[in-house]
Amino acid sequence: MGYRAYQYRLYPNARQAHDLLNLLAVARHCYNMCLDLWRYVYVTEKRRPTSQEFEVMRKGYKKTIPAAKHVHSHVFQGLAKRAEEAFQGFFRRVKVGEKSGYPRYKSADRFHSIEFKQFGTGVAIDGRRVRISGVGRVRVRWHRALEGTIKTAEILHKAGQWFVVFTCEVPDKPELPKTGQAIGLDLGVASLVTTSDGDKVDHPQFYRKSQKKLRILNRALARKKQGGKNRRKAKRRLQCHHHHVKNQRRDYAHKLSYTLVKHYDLIALEQLKVKNMVRNKHLSKSILDAGWSTFTTLLTNKAVEAGRQVLFVNPAYTSKTCSSCGALFEDLTLADRWVECRCGLSLDRDHNAAKNILNQALPLWDAEVRQNVAGSQDASVPQKPPALDVGSVTSSSTVGHPNLPISYSIIRN
Ligand SMILES: [Zn+2]
Repeated sequence: MGYRAYQYRLYPNARQAHDLLNLLAVARHCYNMCLDLWRYVYVTEKRRPTSQEFEVMRKGYKKTIPAAKHVHSHVFQGLAKRAEEAFQGFFRRVKVGEKSGYPRYKSADRFHSIEFKQFGTGVAIDGRRVRISGVGRVRVRWHRALEGTIKTAEILHKAGQWFVVFTCEVPDKPELPKTGQAIGLDLGVASLVTTSDGDKVDHPQFYRKSQKKLRILNRALARKKQGGKNRRKAKRRLQCHHHHVKNQRRDYAHKLSYTLVKHYDLIALEQLKVKNMVRNKHLSKSILDAGWSTFTTLLTNKAVEAGRQVLFVNPAYTSKTCSSCGALFEDLTLADRWVECRCGLSLDRDHNAAKNILNQALPLWDAEVRQNVAGSQDASVPQKPPALDVGSVTSSSTVGHPNLPISYSIIRN
């Protein structure tokens, strides 16, 4: 059994939207009080607060604050848990010597969700609508079918829109049939992905394309008077824009990772520390734009579900080594896009790196699977899968891939 989250947009009417905002405000206020309780108990008595203490606080809060009267008790319990997690995370980071921010009060700009730990109490599906305790029956856009058993529910507020997220327990899907194919991927700045077969998938660059609009929206926001109604509107427009770009990027990463998982049994990648690389200001915008960590997370999740192997290899010297003879290119710089070796190898820099990544991962591949697949095929040479290999495409043209509903710009060497 695995878990899967399903998110649906909510369309509350004016009164419901008001109630939802009220719910969020109460939850935020109470979360801040949970942090207070934590700090007080920890500083005075050097221990964590008990659940009874949270319960006493909850009851007192409900009695004194009229707006909290109709808020479900599970919401409060979720907040106590979140405060607990915030402090435990803080203690853990202090212990290992990481940068450790103290859990802070959340302002309205930083508090966006409330949780219901048990579906059916507080949140339930009522006909075609979702019934939320203290709000009523809210209209929903069921854009996809729910699968499995709903366990928990979460209400989200993002860029002025409301969503409900159901976490469902779903039965494991049958694994995809083995293809006997392996691929190495080099994640780069010049191209999002270069494969060990020499294919390149360009960056979608949604973010860069939307830079112009972003600039306009940012300037508009800066001109508005502090605390004014128009400022709030301009801010909302900016949030919507960011939200849209984020969705585009996620969608792209989903499609790309799906294609790879579908066609390859083994996918080898570099173990990159994205956080460190983002600090390099020359690379940072490209790296954030590419959304590497989103891509690798999605790829790994899909691979696990489909019974594929994803291997992360040591990134040292993948660019600087010849993939055919193993010689080291001593004086290779970031500006060099092409590598040539004394053994006769002449390759694109990223293609060479992808080959090295695959070479590192191949010895770790489940040999049993490989032989089974090889035996079942007519020739011992594995057939080249269609994924990312848009055969007849010449240099730098944009094509619609048969497996992908959107166009990728693929450059072949
Ligand atoms: Zn060589």
